[in-house]
Amino acid sequence: MLIDLRSDTITRPTPGMLNAMMKAEVGDDVFREDPTVNLLEKTAADLFGMEGALYCASGTMGNQIAIKCHTQPADEVICEREAHVYIYEGGGIAFNSGSQVRALAGDRGRITADQISDAINPDDVHKARTSLVCLENTSNRGGGSCYDLDEIKKIRTVCDERKLALHLDGARLFNALVARKENPATYGKLFNSISVCFNKGLGCPAGSIILGTASFIHQARRIRKLFGGGMRQTGFLAATALYALEHHVERLAEDHAHARQLADALRSNPIVKNVLPVETNLVIFELITGEAPKIFVDKMKTAGILLLPISATRLRMVTHLDISAEMTDQACRILKATMI
Ligand SMILES: *Cc1c(COP(=O)(O)O)cnc(C)c1O
Repeated sequence: MLIDLRSDTITRPTPGMLNAMMKAEVGDDVFREDPTVNLLEKTAADLFGMEGALYCASGTMGNQIAIKCHTQPADEVICEREAHVYIYEGGGIAFNSGSQVRALAGDRGRITADQISDAINPDDVHKARTSLVCLENTSNRGGGSCYDLDEIKKIRTVCDERKLALHLDGARLFNALVARKENPATYGKLFNSISVCFNKGLGCPAGSIILGTASFIHQARRIRKLFGGGMRQTGFLAATALYALEHHVERLAEDHAHARQLADALRSNPIVKNVLPVETNLVIFELITGEAPKIFVDKMKTAGILLLPISATRLRMVTHLDISAEMTDQACRILKATMI
């Protein structure tokens, strides 16, 4: 059997999760009559200490709705230059919100309060109005890096002083919370809106949630409908998210331990040049110059591991719910032994 380390989105629902889906009580969520969706939104909002929540089809939809709520056409959004909202959402900021991006070069996907402060446009007719800052925690292209809470607090202060909204793309926020032993409510206090994916490490087949004030969620619900994301008996999916919040959060620590093991195995292979620090469940690495990632990927596939080239030089492995300790050991043996 292939050990699939391409992404944490490939997981299949566990028997317990399937059972939760089968038992879900449902109704028409556009009428606000799906009790399972209502319970999920209340549970998530309470967990983060925020007023409201809105269940969305995907993380992309959640981010795009939030950005649309926080901006007007011709505004400028500040984010890191490899942020998901900027490079992986199909140009959605321009298309959906008519806003442009000021992309900053961060450290493994993370930007600082000073960088943001310098990038805010003055009130000048030549300049776009800066209205929103988007952070990403953990950072996907940063190899699962986590923000320091102190930096986020400084960023919050800059946003308060300059009257900017602060959105968190928390697709993998639970990985950061578990790795840093932090509390969701701390994040709820710092951001105007947060999006969190259930379809990644939490192991659900689909779904994301956005969190914010009651008025933000009211507007977000309107935009979700406009984007075609008003779904009906969504409780079958929301039940997977409730199940995951109960059963799949603490176990993320196992994924993180597996990722560290894989990184150690890579470091002992002489064809590997560089492995980014592993803080959570992503392992990004480069081969020594001249070694083509594609050839390595093909070799690994033959040996039983699937991984993903993410640029001309970089490769990625992601640990998740469907990767056991035995599979990790086996993958490490293969990673140590494979030469080109
Ligand atoms: C996966 C991901 C998303 C959302 O992805 P969807 O596939 O649309 O659910 C958003 N941000 C980051 C950082 C991600 O890794």
